[in-house]
Amino acid sequence: MEMTEDLIRNVIQQVLTQMGGGGPATNGSGPRPSGKDGVYPTADAAVQAAEAAFKAYRTRPLADRRKAVDCIRTICVEQAEELGRMELEETKIGRLDHKIGKLRDAIPRAPGVEYLRTDNWSGDDGITLTDYAPFGVIGAITPVTHSLPTLAGNAINMLAAGNTVVVNAHPSGAKVAAEGVRRFNRAIRKAIGLDDLITIIETPTLESAAALFDHRGVKLLVVTGGPAVARAALASKRRAVVAGPGNPPVVVDGTADLENAARSIVTGAAFDNNLLCIGEKQVFAVSEIFDRLMEAVGRHGGFRLNAEQIDALTRKAFALGDDKHYHVNKDLVGRDAAVLAKVAGVDVPKGTEIVFGETGADHLFVEHEQMMPFIPFVRVPDVDRAIELARSSEHGYGHTAILHSRDTSVMSRMGKVMDCTVFVVNGPSVAGLGLGGEGVLSFSIAGPTGEGVTTPLTFCRQRRTAVVGTMRFV
Ligand code: NAD
Repeated sequence: MEMTEDLIRNVIQQVLTQMGGGGPATNGSGPRPSGKDGVYPTADAAVQAAEAAFKAYRTRPLADRRKAVDCIRTICVEQAEELGRMELEETKIGRLDHKIGKLRDAIPRAPGVEYLRTDNWSGDDGITLTDYAPFGVIGAITPVTHSLPTLAGNAINMLAAGNTVVVNAHPSGAKVAAEGVRRFNRAIRKAIGLDDLITIIETPTLESAAALFDHRGVKLLVVTGGPAVARAALASKRRAVVAGPGNPPVVVDGTADLENAARSIVTGAAFDNNLLCIGEKQVFAVSEIFDRLMEAVGRHGGFRLNAEQIDALTRKAFALGDDKHYHVNKDLVGRDAAVLAKVAGVDVPKGTEIVFGETGADHLFVEHEQMMPFIPFVRVPDVDRAIELARSSEHGYGHTAILHSRDTSVMSRMGKVMDCTVFVVNGPSVAGLGLGGEGVLSFSIAGPTGEGVTTPLTFCRQRRTAVVGTMRFV
């Protein structure tokens, strides 16, 4: 048998693992195991551990990156049920079937090492390569809406690119995030003998997030969350990839396939009880097809509320704050359609995916990113008015917009007007993340800073190497 470098490394590692340490896989290229499985009490301790891990990780071949990424994917798929349940029990928002689906079906679509590439020019003067190299330690802030899926998706992209990562999770999803980090680290240690490629602050707070923002050891920030944290990241001294809020509108015109439009709207808006930042939040439909569309939504799992029921729900779903602005009632965010219906004063049949109803264009449910499976439908005279209202309801986030139309000129018009990071035509919003549409998946869609749906290349520095006068082979 040929003794390849990989084979020797595996044998040494197996011996070390059997000796109980699982420690360094090669001659001194891995730090001693910390025994923490990546979970640290402070931002500083978590960054220091990730820095030590990066020193070792950067010496490793791409094959080891592949193995590390595979560990994360495998755990997400094989333990989806247990981890999904854990996430729902802790966060108390969303749906179990979709929490499981996000780990089991979505995470494997997050791109890994295979996505990396080298660009090159070759000519009379030699060859010039552009390689995609790691930054080092990345600081990641993750949302409560998909605590472990965001962490896992970020980690796959970032580790594939050769970085290590420190996570500050949302306090309400911190336990499942820490448990995921423990499991990922144990598996990665077993696979390649390295600890702490992913670290996490055990009890995250706004202070620990701020400490991560300012830490000298953090080379890049990746922030996924709502308006406050997006603003904080944009104001930070550190370079930040910012995946901020959205309020995705849907336009349905007179040429649309109404069955497909209704089914798609319900699929997207019901997904994890509308917690997805790309999920359908309000619909503008032309009057010519409005009533038929409403009937179709009713046939595809929607339950229609009347004006009185919508008023009752709205009174509970929003509260006027001291700042004289309305705020979404967090107790109703991500709750089941049946719960919202009850608040509206009605019982709905089992299997109801969303509740919906007709509202005006200036309704609170249209204006706010409600993250609830109640969808307001607004009747409009024509498609240009629909696009205009869609644009204004999106508040310039430039995040996601959805269109149902067979008219290609409407597709172009709306695409231009909305100017969004994700624009889905004739499908559910999730198709924009490769779920029922083409393309790779990420739970961090960086609109404000322009990286778009993040991939391993988002987390790389470009490095150019010019070799002059040689290395031209043709
Ligand atoms: P959130 O803004 O309340 O929290 C997000 C993260 O930021 C949490 O870890 C939180 O602890 C932290 N945080 C909040 N304020 C902070 C501050 N001032 N300084 C430092 N850290 C701070 O959001 P959420 O409720 O967890 O998630 C839902 C929001 O995130 C929605 O607005 C949704 O659109 C957005 N989101 C966007 C994407 C995307 O890819 N663009 C993905 C998921 C969620």
